[in-house]
Amino acid sequence: MRRKPLLLFDMDGTLITITDPASHSRHVWHDASYGSVKHRMKETAAAHGVPHEVVAGLERMAYIWNAARAYADHNGFPEEDTRALMTALNVPFMEGERADQELSVIVPGTVEALTTLRDLGYEMALVTSSSRQSTERILGSPEYGRLGRFFTHTVTRDDCLYVKPDPEVIMKALRLHGKEDFVLIGDSDHDAEAAKAAGGGFILINTRGYDQKHLKRLDPDAVITCHGELPGILQNLGYA
Ligand SMILES: [Mg+2]
Repeated sequence: MRRKPLLLFDMDGTLITITDPASHSRHVWHDASYGSVKHRMKETAAAHGVPHEVVAGLERMAYIWNAARAYADHNGFPEEDTRALMTALNVPFMEGERADQELSVIVPGTVEALTTLRDLGYEMALVTSSSRQSTERILGSPEYGRLGRFFTHTVTRDDCLYVKPDPEVIMKALRLHGKEDFVLIGDSDHDAEAAKAAGGGFILINTRGYDQKHLKRLDPDAVITCHGELPGILQNLGYA
């Protein structure tokens, strides 16, 4: 039996998730607004001195964010220019995350599962690519079950230079807890990559409906469909 690891939870898509993803009108609106958010992030990066080709081919907000930051870090941008770049990039990023969160509800059974895990003695933290403002709004909201009460620490985009799939957010949570062993519970390839890069376990909650082929590529330690499965899964993985 291994010692209990620190349990790290992603937020968007993991604790809260978009309702009714099949709804046609919402979906079309969502995809269109998403496309414009990414386009604006690329334009913003270019306006702040990041060459177009650095971000042109990138299709995820996190990739554009990290690539712009890395370019500034490795090409001698003065600190105030980097700050201005990232502050400007944060505007469309905030719009993207709000568009998602407006359509999101708490994943059923989450409060009950986190209560059980806490009673079993697991320490829990949140590691998210969302902003501090959005994270606190969601974690404090009765509508989302006041989830903040379960987490000793929350690490957000505003607390890091890079977002997932970079492992920085995980390393920061480990430092805050003085721990090395962790299991990340998340819904995306970015979570899988970040957990692997930080040297810990990864449990995928399949809210995105990934098929077997995709799941195999992500190589999680386990796949769940709701958080209520976590106590049993953790026990199966050999944790107390
Ligand atoms: Mg997520």
